[in-house]
Amino acid sequence: MTIRELSRIALLLAALLPGPARAAVKVVTTTEGLASIAREVGGADAEVQHLSRGVQDPHFVDANPTLALKLRAADLLVDVGLELEVGWLPPLVNQSRNPDIQPGGRRRLTAASAVAVLDVPTGPVDRSMGDLHPGGNPHFLTDPRRAALVAKAIGARLGELDPAHAAGYAERAAAFGKRLEAALARWQAELAPYKGKRLFSQHKTLSYLHEWTGLVDGGELEPRPGTPPPPAHLARLVEVAKRDGVKVIVVESYYDTRSGEQVARLTGARLVSIPGDVGGDPAAKSYESYVDLVVRRILDALRASP
Ligand SMILES: [Zn+2]
Repeated sequence: MTIRELSRIALLLAALLPGPARAAVKVVTTTEGLASIAREVGGADAEVQHLSRGVQDPHFVDANPTLALKLRAADLLVDVGLELEVGWLPPLVNQSRNPDIQPGGRRRLTAASAVAVLDVPTGPVDRSMGDLHPGGNPHFLTDPRRAALVAKAIGARLGELDPAHAAGYAERAAAFGKRLEAALARWQAELAPYKGKRLFSQHKTLSYLHEWTGLVDGGELEPRPGTPPPPAHLARLVEVAKRDGVKVIVVESYYDTRSGEQVARLTGARLVSIPGDVGGDPAAKSYESYVDLVVRRILDALRASP
């Protein structure tokens, strides 16, 4: 048989075969960071959408009814948890009329359940004071090790919902974890000379980053998570900066920078803007490029502030 005949047979066979055997699993995540991780794990077997965007403060997202439509068709909803989305996700889930994505449902995965949580309050929590982290700190995707655990949990759940592709989900989650492990070693090596350096942040977003980098929380511009910085608190931080040698103030791109600028002006510290999530900066297109950009921006500021 000639090559030409063979390729004709191949074309005929391809035309006879049915199209895609089935639709990909529809995954909806609350944040862009979770979507990026779900895409890594889902590969071609999952179609992933997200409800909020990385340029938005994830605590405060407009519960637009069009988002409920995305949830209606979801085979799996992945949320962060720890009440990060409490202000906007529950009404959307209720409007979606998709009973399986309710908390505890088989099509609901709360990522926080896969990681060890930091900053769990020990005393009473006063939500009337605007406290946004009553169950502990929900900003754990600033830690690639926890991101790998979330990937593994997503892989396991997708495997339960779509057993025919379970091995693929598990393999891709493991491969993603391996890649993050290698990247983590690089990032840690670059940051190693700055271990013990103190950073200010706008909101308590960096607890998990401090854990793997050895950088230290110098204080937050918000006196408590979710409370705008009053002048007396900022004046106290100026004293803290002088006392502890805080030279860098980290602010996510979705925050107003005025408080940070004020403290920077009074202390000579550098104000660093970082993406709050994947998609929070045009260069932060994937989970890895997001963490890489955060590390890069903080490193630049630390190097410039001896
Ligand atoms: Zn928060």
